[in-house]
Amino acid sequence: MASKSRWADDEEDAELEARRKREKEEKKRAKAEKQRKLEEAARAAEERKKAEVEAAAREQDDRPAKRRKLSSTPEEPQDAKDQPRRLLRFAAPEWGPCRRVDNFERLNHIEEGSYGWVSRAKETATGEIVALKKLKMENLNDGFPVTALREIQCLKESRHRHVVDLREVVVGDTLNDVFLVMEFLEHDLKTLQEEMPEPFLPSEIKTLMLQLTSAVGYLHDHWILHRDLKTSNILMNNRGEIKIADFGMARYAGDPPPPDLTQLVVTLWYRAPELLLGAREYGQAIDMWSVGCIFGELLTKEPLLQGKNEVDELSKIFELCGIPTEDTWPGFRRLPNAKSLRLPRNPHTTGAVIRSKFPFLTAAGASLLTSLLSLNPDSRPLASEVLKHAYFSENPRPKSTAMFPTFPSKAGQEKRRKRASPQAPQRGDAPRIGGDVDFSGIFSSREEGGAGFQLKLV
Ligand code: ADP
Repeated sequence: MASKSRWADDEEDAELEARRKREKEEKKRAKAEKQRKLEEAARAAEERKKAEVEAAAREQDDRPAKRRKLSSTPEEPQDAKDQPRRLLRFAAPEWGPCRRVDNFERLNHIEEGSYGWVSRAKETATGEIVALKKLKMENLNDGFPVTALREIQCLKESRHRHVVDLREVVVGDTLNDVFLVMEFLEHDLKTLQEEMPEPFLPSEIKTLMLQLTSAVGYLHDHWILHRDLKTSNILMNNRGEIKIADFGMARYAGDPPPPDLTQLVVTLWYRAPELLLGAREYGQAIDMWSVGCIFGELLTKEPLLQGKNEVDELSKIFELCGIPTEDTWPGFRRLPNAKSLRLPRNPHTTGAVIRSKFPFLTAAGASLLTSLLSLNPDSRPLASEVLKHAYFSENPRPKSTAMFPTFPSKAGQEKRRKRASPQAPQRGDAPRIGGDVDFSGIFSSREEGGAGFQLKLV
């Protein structure tokens, strides 16, 4: 069993627990109130419609026998017909025909991702440096890839200080040549952390987390799920600002989200347990889980849950966050892949070990990380709740972006090496949890001081 952390404090725990409960109840109340307002609005709309239909019927009844001439009303001057005709003007769409890619000079390749090749480029006319992402157009016979359409649509709709700015879409000679022109940022957090000798300072982590969460909150408020939040998709400039990029997996999803969403989303190390267990109905909480993984990664400079495959990922999650029970996660047993799980019988010996894994994190920081990494998606905080968390108001306070250090930019200088971390899921990939999976041995092996976690496929 894990030893008691020197930060552990029962009274504080109880207080945190009580606060969490209060916040949960508050959330429940707000949800019920929202539902009530929606129903009220629907009833009012229904009544309005009924009244309109009745009024139209009444009008029909007392309509004059002779049809009124509509083309020239009594107020209209007699010579109106002779006036030059004026077109009604509507606001012009923001996006016209696409410019060509040869307005840009390519400077250097940055990275090949799952959905495109990214280069640094210069706009010839203005000299401005931008990032050019050439979209991968595999299988054009199936039409323009939906991932590309979603990426363009979601980026175009997202105007936020911490979401990368999509300037325009440009085209080349063939249908295969579609490029996104984006503002250029010097780093992504993954590469930057690989190069840094030490992790970010706590005050810097707070600033980065606030920026990230404000962008995620903005996306969620605009009904966008990002579905692939990870450090390589978070760009950073030399002014201490981060911006979320790569909307290749993003999609619009209302509340409640549509049923039967794609299950194979989010890069494995950042994928929420409900997705690993096969949930087809999911929502904003999957992005909040990824935010939790990113928080953990910022603290240690290492990805938090580096599973080798879906089963191993789940095992690492349970090892860190504890084993789900019907109390902590009601209904998890009904998820498609949960039916084949064999979990340890005594969940009391298999609780979360987050506090002992992050001994240098304050109680408030540990409570934030623990809530973001709640196995039960309903227990994870909303982005707006994270922003108000006590962790951000205790010392050390978030560092001002102006005080952030600058780092040499790999993207601005040289070609990068290929990464060893897993890629975002590809369209057509199949999830790989199937058959029976036995987790019952994993915790005993830890308690006995076993070297690793052996999962049995039974
Ligand atoms: P994919 O969708 O193909 O995975 P991304 O949009 O994630 O591609 O981009 C891959 C990498 O390219 C990022 O991790 C980052 O290093 C780099 N990159 C992407 N956009 C920019 C940008 N606007 N400025 C600088 N680098 C970028």
